[in-house]
Amino acid sequence: MIVELNGITKRFGDILAFDDVSLTIDDGEFLTLVGPSGCGKTTLLRCIAGLEDVSEGKITFDGQDVTTLPPQQRNIAFVFQNYALYPHMTARRNMSFALEDQGMAEVDIEQRVTETAEMLGIGEQLNQKPGELSGGQQQRVALGRSIVRDPNVFLLDEPLSNLDAKLRVQMRAELQKIHNELGKTMIYVTHDQEEAMTMSDRIAIMNQGRLQQVSSPAEAYYQPTNRFVASFIGSPAMNFMGCQDDGDRVETAAFSTTKPEAVTDTVTEVGVRPEDLEISEDGGESRADVSVFEQLGSHNMVYLAVDGVDDELIAQVPAIKYFEEGDRVGVSVTDRRYHFFARDGTAVYTPRPRPRASRDSPASPSSRV
Ligand code: ATP
Repeated sequence: MIVELNGITKRFGDILAFDDVSLTIDDGEFLTLVGPSGCGKTTLLRCIAGLEDVSEGKITFDGQDVTTLPPQQRNIAFVFQNYALYPHMTARRNMSFALEDQGMAEVDIEQRVTETAEMLGIGEQLNQKPGELSGGQQQRVALGRSIVRDPNVFLLDEPLSNLDAKLRVQMRAELQKIHNELGKTMIYVTHDQEEAMTMSDRIAIMNQGRLQQVSSPAEAYYQPTNRFVASFIGSPAMNFMGCQDDGDRVETAAFSTTKPEAVTDTVTEVGVRPEDLEISEDGGESRADVSVFEQLGSHNMVYLAVDGVDDELIAQVPAIKYFEEGDRVGVSVTDRRYHFFARDGTAVYTPRPRPRASRDSPASPSSRV
């Protein structure tokens, strides 16, 4: 099912939850709404579900106007962060009762629940009650309950946030498999940019009630359209430095580069991804003191107090590169991989994506080391 949002706005009295959002989610697409707390993503999802009315604009499902339809007439499934299972019912009953309400034959219900439970890896747990299940198993039951209803669209609101870090990573992969298997449209809400980057066909990044960028995860990482997206996507975040622009050259306190002719706006800020900072023992474009060194196994992080630069910069280096606190080092920007921003925060120049990245394989900093 194609979900189309046409200029929708939601106000709670004087509070603007989100403003003038237009977005088309394709049939079978996995789209993630991502942004910091309070940016309006949950309210937007609730409006798509019909749990909230929109103040302005139109929502269509496959071209049909559903703006004023109640949730039960939209054929959607909403999966919550807190699972919302009935504690006195077994996993099987939790999954089947909606189908019983619909009057489906008992043998068909049994078949659908069993098949779904097998797919979710909870076939052995069907006779247990939620209190006897782990968090991950409970979330699978909640997912199973929505899958058996065969909805046209799945709306998922931070469904993994109650799970521990390891299980969250595992469930991320499982959700992608489920999505591939079902082929249904899924709209997923999270504040976790890494979750958004790893699971989605496209991500819609929101800030203060406004859509900032809608693109593939890789595009959001390599070609952020503005400073907000550049700072929100990527961990650790992009380094930012104020700069001077004399029309020919852009200069920060530490680095200097020619300004590409195509860039006509005045550049007021420069951004460099941590993996695009290069550290050397000698030389380098600028000199810096290592203030903190972190070994993460697959790669290392180096916090740098760069001469003349107010804020610390963070460099991500391969695991074989080892430094110590207090080391005096050289620091340069690899292949002039600068991002330029204008005064209003618009990105006016981004470096070309790295050769190893492709639109189909979104890369997070850690996976590219
Ligand atoms: P979080 O990740 O913290 O849940 P969010 O991005 O999902 O944040 P929303 O919950 O959609 O953000 O909230 C967006 C804005 O709307 C916030 O300013 C919030 O306080 C406000 N808001 C949300 N629900 C209501 C409500 N029922 N009544 C009044 N204001 C609300």
